[in-house]
Amino acid sequence: MRIAIASGKGGTGKTTVAVNLYYQLSKYLENQVQLIDCDVEEPNDLLFIPKAEKSNTNKVYSLVPKIDREKCTFCKKCSEWCEFNAISIVKNLKFAEVNKDLCHSCGACSVACNFDAISEYQNPIGTISEYTTTFGSGVIEGRLEIGSSMQTSLIRALKKQTNNPEMLQLLDAPPGTSCPVVETVSGAAYVILVTEPTPFGEYDLMLTVELLNDLKIPFGVIVNKAGLGNHSVYEFLNKNKIELIGEIPFSKEFAVNYSRGALLDQISEEMEIFYQSTAERLLELTGIRKLNN
Ligand code: SF4
Ligand code: SF4
Repeated sequence: MRIAIASGKGGTGKTTVAVNLYYQLSKYLENQVQLIDCDVEEPNDLLFIPKAEKSNTNKVYSLVPKIDREKCTFCKKCSEWCEFNAISIVKNLKFAEVNKDLCHSCGACSVACNFDAISEYQNPIGTISEYTTTFGSGVIEGRLEIGSSMQTSLIRALKKQTNNPEMLQLLDAPPGTSCPVVETVSGAAYVILVTEPTPFGEYDLMLTVELLNDLKIPFGVIVNKAGLGNHSVYEFLNKNKIELIGEIPFSKEFAVNYSRGALLDQISEEMEIFYQSTAERLLELTGIRKLNN
């Protein structure tokens, strides 16, 4: 079962929530909970987990077409079939090229070509690494190759590789509402949206709520940095009957600890109680029985 932690914008505290919930849930589900960092452009969950050790890593590739100019008749059928404008054909110059950064590896051009002029090669898009941790069943991180735009493909591979219905998996989603987020949250049993009580936070929350309603995925909201900004985000939640899971008060001390990577060992008692009750709520919501009861 998968629970995603998402936010419409960066900097709302999504990683804080993901790491703390992984820690708290591991108290109930010692070897049945994993944290999967799907924020592949900038994975940072491991920065906050002490003594994590890499146990395995593998490279992920996408298949990119290559055009053989000796066989190519420059008929342009492949470029017409390509939805992503990744193929340039200039007949007069006998030019035929695939832009690997635009290619989405759909394979349509290979099917389109009647002259056997297209073959495919493996293009590295990132890595998937597994880490053991001193609590829970470990962290799995996707890390995008520098310069690659294949976030969605890497997240898809990450989800496929980690698929384990016996495990409760927390998916730390990339910020925003674009394809990588859709890929991360699709198939999740529940999504926790993290927002902040500011006009920016509210606007991005509205977009994410719209997305999750379209995808028909149940969700609730945690308001981080509560006490900062205004009340309109709460009015939005009330008006739309969206569950407020809880609030994390704005704290300068917390910001200092975060910048030191100390999310778990210097947490206040109040926050410990908050994450404990949120973890219990998730177990209840997902129908998972507490192991220590
Ligand atoms: S469809 Fe085949 S032959 Fe036609 S332009 Fe593309 S690669 Fe060349
Ligand atoms: S594999 Fe798909 S996206 Fe890539 S160049 Fe061919 S048609 Fe375009």
